[in-house]
Amino acid sequence: MLYEGKAKKIYSTDKPEIIRVEYKDSATAFNGVKKDSIEGKGKLNNLFTSFFFELLSEKGIENHFEGKISETEHLAKKVSIIPLEVIVRNKAAGTLAKRIGKEEGFPMPFPIIELCYKNDDLGDPMLNDDHIFALNLASPDELKQIKEKALRVNTLLQDFFLGHGLELIDFKLEFGKTTEGTILLADEISPDTCRIWDAVTGQKLDKDVFRRDLAPLAETYHSLAVRIGILKNEA
Ligand code: 5GP
Repeated sequence: MLYEGKAKKIYSTDKPEIIRVEYKDSATAFNGVKKDSIEGKGKLNNLFTSFFFELLSEKGIENHFEGKISETEHLAKKVSIIPLEVIVRNKAAGTLAKRIGKEEGFPMPFPIIELCYKNDDLGDPMLNDDHIFALNLASPDELKQIKEKALRVNTLLQDFFLGHGLELIDFKLEFGKTTEGTILLADEISPDTCRIWDAVTGQKLDKDVFRRDLAPLAETYHSLAVRIGILKNEA
């Protein structure tokens, strides 16, 4: 094992350029203060992330995904993760709604990009471009690529979700760098990292159900997977 995070474990493989990502059943919120183990969560998030990375690959967004290999695992290209949480927001929710004093669901006139320093000890503080260059986290050209890619991902995912009567409120991406210096979309794309609401009722179908004790997480993620057609409803 190379690394264990809150929701995933990363292992080396017999190929130095490939890693194995295993999704855990653990759920955490508020920087690890709220924790639980939820049976089936790992499988569901591996299903979501594998599906979305394949979809984005088909649409020309280069990413680290190299194929799902089991219910809870996929392979990925090894990259060094740039320690930035790249958040894109279409409507105010969560910390943005608080920061600007608006109701959740307040529409933003254009997608807002926020960049946060990926550092649990500091509570992932927001950085501006100057901080990022001063700390050498990314060069101006790399940051430009990251922002452009994040906005393309937003358009593609928004269209996808709208086709299923769902609204993409916001999401968080992470990018990595290959040994050749190519910037690749990495980490995961799942309801742990996105806010997804029913476009008509506004029902929350993402990790906010866990953060705010609104509904059972596994059932919510399962219903989202059925709704977007990546899981059959066996219930
Ligand atoms: P907020 O800043 O409102 O808490 O989060 C904005 C969006 O980014 C939400 O979709 C949220 O799920 C995602 N996000 C922000 N920080 C993190 C994080 O540390 N972990 C995960 N999984 N998602 C995050």
